[in-house]
Amino acid sequence: MNALHVTQARGRPVEHPADRRAALEAAFTRHDWTPVPAVGEGRVRLTEESADRLAGVAAELHPAFGGDVAALNRALVRHGAVPSLHGDPPVLAFHRPGTDLVDAWAADACTALAMVIGVGQGRRLRSCEADGCELVFFDVTRNASRRFCGLSCQNRAKATAYRARRRT
Ligand SMILES: [Zn+2]
Repeated sequence: MNALHVTQARGRPVEHPADRRAALEAAFTRHDWTPVPAVGEGRVRLTEESADRLAGVAAELHPAFGGDVAALNRALVRHGAVPSLHGDPPVLAFHRPGTDLVDAWAADACTALAMVIGVGQGRRLRSCEADGCELVFFDVTRNASRRFCGLSCQNRAKATAYRARRRT
């Protein structure tokens, strides 16, 4: 989601991979996500059009990390999210049987975010507070207190705050 949508990360403009389709296929394979039944031999194949639509889904889901529940509810409906058993032996998924790969991924992703929010953990869906960074993350700290996507943003924010204090 981060790689597809944000325009700046860790204080720098984001360079999107020249071949977004190949990058997405690699990411799906790496995370072992294949809609059920698997496309091909367990390897996800995307068209350019699907890659563009997936980038649109990433943009659609980004506001959920800022607590926009209404946007997430609209996305759940738009992508046909519904619990459904697929395959033999049956596997629980959250997209309709026979749906296309983009809607399948979107429905599964929307449902995962909705589950996090629905069990009272929505504050763990965060976006980085550092200037020049739009990355989103799932906060796994014990008291849900993480503010930055990583150390580089934390250090930059600290340095900015330090300089601001010295000026006053
Ligand atoms: Zn950041």
